[in-house]
This record gives sequence, structure tokens and C-alpha cells, in this order.
Amino acid sequence: MSQFDVTIIGSGPGGYVSAIRCAQLGFKTAIIEKYSTLGGTCLNVGCIPSKALLASSHHYEELQHFADHGIEVSGDVKVNLQKMIDRKQAVVDQTSGGVKYLMDKNKVAVFEGVGSFESATSVKVTKNDGSSEVIESKYIIVATGSKPSSLPFISIDKERIITSTEALKLPEVPKHLVIIGGGVIGIELGQVYLRLGAQVSVVEYMDRIIPGMDGALSKELTKVLKKQGMKFYTSHKVKEVTRNGNAVTVKADDAKGNEIALEGDYCLVAVGRRPYTDGLNAEKAGVQINERGQVVVNDHLQTTASNVYAIGDVIRGAMLAHKAEEEGVLVAEYLAGQKPHIDYNLIPGVVYTWPEVAAVGKTEEQLKADGVAYKSGSFPFKALGRARAGGDIDGFVKILADSKTDEVLGVHMIGARCADLIAEAVTAMEFRASAEDISRMSHAHPTFAEAIKEAALAATDNRALHV
Ligand code: FAD
Repeated sequence: MSQFDVTIIGSGPGGYVSAIRCAQLGFKTAIIEKYSTLGGTCLNVGCIPSKALLASSHHYEELQHFADHGIEVSGDVKVNLQKMIDRKQAVVDQTSGGVKYLMDKNKVAVFEGVGSFESATSVKVTKNDGSSEVIESKYIIVATGSKPSSLPFISIDKERIITSTEALKLPEVPKHLVIIGGGVIGIELGQVYLRLGAQVSVVEYMDRIIPGMDGALSKELTKVLKKQGMKFYTSHKVKEVTRNGNAVTVKADDAKGNEIALEGDYCLVAVGRRPYTDGLNAEKAGVQINERGQVVVNDHLQTTASNVYAIGDVIRGAMLAHKAEEEGVLVAEYLAGQKPHIDYNLIPGVVYTWPEVAAVGKTEEQLKADGVAYKSGSFPFKALGRARAGGDIDGFVKILADSKTDEVLGVHMIGARCADLIAEAVTAMEFRASAEDISRMSHAHPTFAEAIKEAALAATDNRALHV
């Protein structure tokens, strides 16, 4: 029987990063993964493949602006979807291979099979061929992630009524893709197929898309995507999805009860993800799972079994790869006797559409609800030389700061390269910067980052220079 200090169940960004940190700290570490490839949802059917398709489809879309730049393309420009998807898969394979390399380099033992608790200190690994072995471990970290969720009346057939996993490998560009759910995943994949020529309709229950983000971002993203041709049905409650051959009909009611029926050839169900603990036998270890399916943890991410911890999508909080990674590191360091800390308020959220959307800290809606007195400064990208030089003029940066202390409480941005720009806001907020602190830092000219400085100037006595 194998014996380890730490055994991690699940090799997503939470699990594999935790394994590396555990090994760095001197723990004899094992990781169990039920699939033959490492990296979990993020690397295999999430962050990486979706960004590969977003990048490919963005190149295609940019072709339409070549003429503005004086580049004349003659002859047919066509999309070869299969090739695009093959490239995406090559990126995934390479990235997953990179995780295997990191496991080997850090001497982490990799077990392929389904991990299930036998007790709080032993896990059975059942391989595909039915054979099994038991691992004994002082500590166990549950990092089993999440799966797409659906609505009770929808039956996902994985052909025409699909989840994000199938949307990453469609055999053709849909004629009309109907997306249920205007959250990050639905909107990103919607933009991929919109760029490739599909008609795309988004049905959203809430009154706006990306409802968890600041209202100003939803509004601007809706405006830009509408301009690109995406159709939105917000405040619509889907009540029926039926398939007839290659046709799919989605019926929904608006707030007044008026019915709409959208006819498409594919329906992407993107209504969120559910924590995944199937087959884990958590009860055998005394690990409690709540009514939402999440593994219950305390502030140290310790479960109801004192030597078992849980991280990532399978516990409470944002379902994001970088949140899972931070938690993986936190548990490893905590087990090593250190005192790590995560500020969950400073986990950034990003939508990788173009323009990109990114945010950190409190939204205006949250500050209002909490009764916090705040001031706001915004700056539009169209006023930046760099944005005009590149032709990426949509969007803005908005900084919210405490009206008395000037401490930055939230930064919300939509525009070119915001996924990377948000790191400056996270750094500033981690060091509890004031808006004036940011406004006095030199930002290289011409860059998109100047919009952050200008928004900070706007937030402090309306001092923006270029509007
Ligand atoms: P997962 O990545 O889900 O990994 C869990 C692993 O555990 C899986 O490999 C699973 O097979 C394995 N497992 C489960 N049960 C067992 C068991 N009993 N035994 C053995 N193995 C088991 N997040 C971002 O931050 N940025 C993005 O751009 C982004 N884009 C996304 C796009 C899409 C289309 C999707 C679906 C998700 C995206 N996400 C993104 C979310 C991100 O993928 C997740 O937040 C992240 O993968 C969670 O990591 P995790 O380690 O908790 O779990």
C-alpha cells in the first residue's frame, strides 16, 4: 500500500498547483485524476480551449478591419473550423503535457483513476479497467471541481442541445446558436461563433448579461455585442427546449408572461456549473456536503474531517481557475505551518470577449447596497492615443474610491487588453492604494494602461487630463 503525506483528488488548477506547492514544501505528494490527461476543466474543456477558439475567431474577425489599415486581401478568406478545433486541441495537449512535466519535475506521484474515500486517511483509486489500489495519506485535499449544470426540464443530448464542453468541438458553424445564460461562458462562446458567421441569440433570466459584474460593464458589453450582431433576450425565463431532427426550439416567457420561441440548429445551455463530488464517497471520511453540493469548509479550507481539506470549484466562492490556484497554495502552506491568507475581495473577474471585460473589488451596486459613501471616476478608451492608433476604441475604465479616505474600492473596465490591465488594479488594491496614489504613478505613453491613470485622476477632483 502506498503511503503519502498529502494526497490530492483532482488535477485541475486547484489540485495540480497545490501538488506543486506541497512538493516544494517537502511533503511526499500524490495526485489522483480520473481522466488520462491532467489539468482538469480549465486546461481540457475550459479556460485554455475557449481562449484558443476566441483567439482564432478574433484573427478572422480582424480581417474585416484590414482594409481600414490599408491592407488589401484578395481571394477567398474562409474558415476551416476543423483546423481551428485541431489547433485548439494541440494547445490543450501541449498545456496538459506541461502539467505532467511539472508533476514529474516535482516528484509528485500521479495516479490515474477515480478517487473515493475509504476513510479520512485512505483513498481507493479505481482505474478504467476496474482494478484498484488504496493510498494511505496523512492529509487529503479534495479538488474535484465542477461540471456544467442544466435546468430540470432540459435534456442535454450533447449533439444539438449542448454544454460548453461540446461547444468547444462543434462539427460545423451553427446557422443559429441559441444560448441559454448570459454569463461569462455563454457570452465568450457566443462571440466565437458570432465571429465565425453564426446568428447568435442569448436568453438570460436576469435583466442584464454578466449579471454578477458592475452594471456599467453589462451595459457597455451589451452595446458592443449588439453592434457586432448578437441578439439578447434579457428578463426571459426559458420554459421549454425541444429538438426535432436538426432543429432546436427554445421557448421562454418575458417578465409580462409573453412567450417567445427561438428556432435554432444548436442550443448551448450555459446556466452555470455545479460542484462535482460524484463517486467520492465523502461520507466515509466524515466530509460534509451542503445542500448546494459544495464541500463544506472553514476559513482554513478544512472540511468537517480535520485532516481533509477542499479547494476550488467544489467549495464556496467564485468558480475561477486563479481562485482555485490560490486556495491550493493556501492549503499547502497551512499544512506546512505557515499563515497564508487570501483576500477574496481581490480575486479579479474577467470576460475574454473583445473588448475584454475585467473587474476587481466592489461594484457600484454593492457599494450602494452596503451604504458606503464612494466617488467614481471614468475614462473612455476612445480618448487614448494608443486606442485610436490600434482602432480599439470601445470601452472605459471606472474607478470607485471611498469618498472620505480615497481608498480604491473597485475597478471596472471594458476594452482592449483589460484582462491584463486589471492586474494593476489588483496590485494597487492589495497595497490599499488611494485613487490619488494611482493618479500620481507614471504610466507609459501611449498605452491602454493610461486609461487607469486617467480614471484615477477623474476620481480625485475630476482631474482627468485628456477629456
Ligand atoms: P477542475 O478544473 O474542474 O478539476 C477537477 C478535476 O478533478 C477534473 O480533472 C476531474 O476529472 C477530477 N476529478 C473529479 N472527481 C474525481 C475523482 N473522484 N477522482 C479523480 N479525479 C476526479 N476560469 C478562469 O479563471 N478563467 C477562464 O478564462 C475560464 N474559462 C472557462 C471556460 C469554460 C468553457 C469553462 C467551462 C470554465 C472556465 N473557467 C475559467 C472556470 C475554470 O475552468 C474552473 O474554475 C477551474 O477549472 C476550477 O478548478 P478546480 O481545480 O477546482 O477543478
